[in-house]
Amino acid sequence: MVHLHNSATGQIEELKPIRDGVVTMYVCGPTVYDVPHIGHGRFVLVFDILRRYLEHQGYKVVHVSNITDIDDKILTRAVRENLQPSEIASKYEAVWWETLEMLNVLRPTSVPHATQYIDEMLGLIQELVRREMAYVSVDGVYFDIAKVSDYGLLAHQTLDSLRAGARIELNENKRSPLDFVLWKITHNERWTWNSPYGRGRPGWHTECVVMAQDLLGESFDIHGGGADLAFPHHENERAQAISLGHNFASIWVHNGFIVTGGEKMSKSLENYVTLPELVGGSDPRSYRLLVLQAHYRSPLEVNGALILDAARALMRIDSAIERYRRFANQVSYTPQPNNAMIEAFSKHMDNDLDTPSATAGIFAAISRMNGLFDVGEVDQGLAIGCGIVELVSVLGLAGITDDLTIPSEVTELFQKRELARLKKDFQTSDELRKELLLRGWVVEDAKSGGILKPLREV
Ligand SMILES: [Zn+2]
Repeated sequence: MVHLHNSATGQIEELKPIRDGVVTMYVCGPTVYDVPHIGHGRFVLVFDILRRYLEHQGYKVVHVSNITDIDDKILTRAVRENLQPSEIASKYEAVWWETLEMLNVLRPTSVPHATQYIDEMLGLIQELVRREMAYVSVDGVYFDIAKVSDYGLLAHQTLDSLRAGARIELNENKRSPLDFVLWKITHNERWTWNSPYGRGRPGWHTECVVMAQDLLGESFDIHGGGADLAFPHHENERAQAISLGHNFASIWVHNGFIVTGGEKMSKSLENYVTLPELVGGSDPRSYRLLVLQAHYRSPLEVNGALILDAARALMRIDSAIERYRRFANQVSYTPQPNNAMIEAFSKHMDNDLDTPSATAGIFAAISRMNGLFDVGEVDQGLAIGCGIVELVSVLGLAGITDDLTIPSEVTELFQKRELARLKKDFQTSDELRKELLLRGWVVEDAKSGGILKPLREV
């Protein structure tokens, strides 16, 4: 049974999907006004890993993640780049998907865009005003947080301490500094919509409430995002939904932030690295492995040395899988993973996604498999190898070669070459290596034997 930490209760709880066999999950997506940074990469990877694991456990996962394509930051950028706000949004959304593809992140089931939901957002705002949960002011419509008795639940703070911590804003149009804008009246701007309150645009906190409920229903299983979204964004989403009498999310899952050189990474500290830079600079799976090796709720240190370590560790995984495949081919093995290994993995993952233990288990299995092959215990080694292949793929760490079919004549040449090398017949071994190269395959010699790679990857 999958258990996850629920930020709303502070407890680790069993995930009990509302619909049998289906998990509904909403994850707040990016505001597309710039190239994504490493923090974005962490949240997409954490929820991709969660989704892949749930699917492995037999659930159908309905995964919704939005694109915020209307926001002050987009408007500012549009002025700076002398483009339309919609052009800025589509430009940076394209970068977003390209980067996610490099990270091997599965596309969400649905990707709603804020600008497609303006009417529905206005509908929700009018309903909140009608219920007197929101009020109309001269510069917009505000949500009255005093009307929600448990406001502050996700922040785990009382109203008084939240008020004390709120930035003192000189906005006499609000009843409380914590009240948030639902509809912002703006006159001299390029991107506004008509509304009963005047021309303007919606506030950020309304879009997710509308889109999540439209695509997942009034109640759904998981709402996720980075820890920095818990308050005020998620608190404000929840406040609107429960004001309508809806349950909204059952479990709130938040991942920790990124640290570099012991300091929190942030744009304002100018110590942040863009995600395409990080992913493009090494094996694109390195960051995923780094994310897996820390618990998702802990801060994650990211630096060049750690990325390099991760790349090396990935080579260990790749060679192990290569070695397993070689042995499997020799004996025409029918895949049958080692059960105990799969069970141990699930036990860790079920425990609030304990990916550090689950990943450590895979590396321990690699050592075990190699040991068994070394002493000729091929059958046992193969069962473990098969388990490694399965688990590596569940975590999204499978190499590109894993999806490739190696032509049989290439396998044959490769095996002949391995044999020649074992017999120390280096002349034949070299000839065969050239032969393979002509067919587009490179052999890299590792301690445990040769590794076959397609030329375009080397
Ligand atoms: Zn959101």
